[in-house]
Amino acid sequence: MSFTFSAGEKFAQQLDAEDPLRSFRDRFHLPVGANGEPLIYFAGNSLGLMPKSAKQIVEQELEDWAKLGVDAHLNAKTPWYSYHETLREPAARLVGAQPIEVICMNSLTVNLHLMMATFYRPTKSRFKILMEDPAFPSDTYAIKTQIVHHGLEPKEALVLARPREGEFTVRTEEILDLIEKHTDELAVVLIGGVNFFTGQLFDIPTITAAAQKHGITVGVDLAHAIGNVPLSLHDWNVDFAVWCSYKYLNAGPGAVAGAFVHERHATNTKLLRLAGWFGNDPNTRFRMHLEPEFIPVASADGWQISNPPILSMAPLRASLALFEEAGMEALRQKSIKLTSYLQFLLEDGDSGSLFNVITPREANERGCQLSIQAREHPKELFSKLEAAGVKCDFREPNVIRAAPTPLYNTFHEVWRFARILH
Ligand SMILES: *Cc1c(COP(=O)(O)O)cnc(C)c1O
Repeated sequence: MSFTFSAGEKFAQQLDAEDPLRSFRDRFHLPVGANGEPLIYFAGNSLGLMPKSAKQIVEQELEDWAKLGVDAHLNAKTPWYSYHETLREPAARLVGAQPIEVICMNSLTVNLHLMMATFYRPTKSRFKILMEDPAFPSDTYAIKTQIVHHGLEPKEALVLARPREGEFTVRTEEILDLIEKHTDELAVVLIGGVNFFTGQLFDIPTITAAAQKHGITVGVDLAHAIGNVPLSLHDWNVDFAVWCSYKYLNAGPGAVAGAFVHERHATNTKLLRLAGWFGNDPNTRFRMHLEPEFIPVASADGWQISNPPILSMAPLRASLALFEEAGMEALRQKSIKLTSYLQFLLEDGDSGSLFNVITPREANERGCQLSIQAREHPKELFSKLEAAGVKCDFREPNVIRAAPTPLYNTFHEVWRFARILH
């Protein structure tokens, strides 16, 4: 996709006027700055904004709890017993999955451990895990402790795909080379959908095919990808995936996360796993102590452990309804335009010596985030952005992450952000 942009303010206003998704901004609460005006909120990659509809949906659950007590499990407006069912189809659409491949549960890192408990079964010869570097620290901790948990050494079992000298992002060929090099020893390839630091979108289908050709299992961490880029996990044949819901999914702090298990594994009740009663066949679940044998549900639900956290799931329902209404394809179209426009404005003029964008330039290699490397006085630059009413974030040593999101950000905000930065 190529665009012809121009740098004037009128052009930004015109893009907003032509934006078919512009009305969605009114469906969110926008944090305001000291002057009472909305902040330029480009931090949806950290914590997405609150849908206005979230409050009513949470209040409904509180009211049902107050009025019905334990009977709300079956008699609430949306019965709690099957509450997670209401999330399944919209979540499946966002990741490109069959409904039986998706379960909303726990938090991201917990789900990563649960998936690894099933899919990382190291043997004497096949025991290595390949992941990108830098990865989000929680993933690194989880993977290293998984390795140690099996009595192995991270130094021997962890293979890292790094950017080349002088580059910022990891080349797909680098990952493919490492897969070839460690072909017979790799058990799992774990790749981020979109890297948290650089904003790089990985070529998931190519990496998946290359690894699976050699019998290597592929898992994807979608923390920065879900609700940001369209995904087709089922068709890409990914083995498992995990995500959180408080970033681009706008489901609130610590919101309930999700997991994907490909159909061919999801229906295999023989797979080893760490179990709890909500992963058990519903027909025998409430026979309780009379049924001590665990019989997994033959779907991703078979990995569910506990009864669903209703108060943390309620805002996710509000948020998923907005994604259903807007549609991921339309959101991605606007997102590509919004971020390309930001890139254009950042490169307009002669600030090349002060900052540069380390995120890939091609739209199909990134989501909405641009990672801006400040050459001089990065912290001071960031403080000045904050003082001017911008909410984005800073990652050591010198990277400012700005993530304009298509649901609630405008082209005019992108224009103002670029002007403030210049
Ligand atoms: C945000 C993020 C996490 C956070 O993990 P939680 O378990 O939700 O606290 C983990 N991994 C990645 C890649 C992330 O972007």
